[in-house]
Amino acid sequence: MSMTAPDLDRLRGVAAPRNHDARTISALTANPGCARRGVMDAAGVDKDAVARHLGFGVPFGQSQFAITRGNTFEAQVKADGCAELLTLLRDRLGLEVPEVAYDDLGAVGDNEGREVRHARTRKLVQRALETGEGTLFDHPLLRLDIAGRPAYLEPDVIAFQLGGRFHIVEVKSFAVIDGQAEADQVAAAARQSAVYVLALRRLVAELGHDPVEKVAHEVFLVCPENFSNRPTATPVDIRPQLAVLERQLARLTRVDTIVAQLPEEITFDLGEALEEAVRTVEARYAPECMSSCEMAFFCRAEARACGATGALGRSVRDDLGGVDSVETALALAEGVLEPSEDLAETAGQLRLAARLRREALAGVA
Ligand code: SF4
Repeated sequence: MSMTAPDLDRLRGVAAPRNHDARTISALTANPGCARRGVMDAAGVDKDAVARHLGFGVPFGQSQFAITRGNTFEAQVKADGCAELLTLLRDRLGLEVPEVAYDDLGAVGDNEGREVRHARTRKLVQRALETGEGTLFDHPLLRLDIAGRPAYLEPDVIAFQLGGRFHIVEVKSFAVIDGQAEADQVAAAARQSAVYVLALRRLVAELGHDPVEKVAHEVFLVCPENFSNRPTATPVDIRPQLAVLERQLARLTRVDTIVAQLPEEITFDLGEALEEAVRTVEARYAPECMSSCEMAFFCRAEARACGATGALGRSVRDDLGGVDSVETALALAEGVLEPSEDLAETAGQLRLAARLRREALAGVA
């Protein structure tokens, strides 16, 4: 059975759909087996609003101060057709960027519709591939299939084309001090850039060109240098992040199959039935959710209440492959529960671990 847009609209209820961005996609790959997140994201549900409605709100995202500082820095770098950025690319990175053409794909005339903007991105990328025309493409609107659903990537990057090859440039507001930036922030930026590189590669492939040859795996992070507002550009090789992203996206639970099995009447509208609706869709909580999903406090409380092995950490759940509850794990370890055929090996290891623990405790006594 194939899912249709009305199925997703019904699940979302009356709220407007939320679009994916590179941050949510890179976070999505952190827990690809979670049906709850897969369904809510595919339907464009505002998970933050849902979590708050259920009494499990969690402060996510940047502070207003950081957002304002980021916007100011980005506007500075992109002013006058990206003049500062061009200086950086030419001087700091030694790139021979010739006279440039600058295209802002943020809006097409007065039309800011995503389909229209994506169509324009596609057209200009095609023109660049075929004729070499165009250098800087600001706000390209890209598309990526997530669990069988297309997601539009909100544009906050620049694609620059040089010698028939595209490079992604991300403007970030975290500082590079003495050539060093905080590793966590660089890693997060690299994961997000990988989403853009993958989406651009898919577009290039659709247009009949070699994606690896035409879209560089090296991206440029443009950040404020030291304690000033002067920008600096750092090349980052995102091949490891790209490999993880592709693998995880391929493994993402197919949303169509899950939605087909849900009761027809469920909806994530912010009403009285919301909690029951959320619980209807299976979750795979792991402590990593705390840094990547707005539903984390709700799912953690649920996992603890039902003694889910995932609450103990992903490695514990993986080691116990197929044993979802702590109660079952203990019963198998004590030999009071006969394992099914597929759990026989896990049960044997649990019994061995229990015996070793008993012997160790007896040795101490
Ligand atoms: S917090 Fe909940 S919904 Fe989000 S990924 Fe984790 S288990 Fe899934």
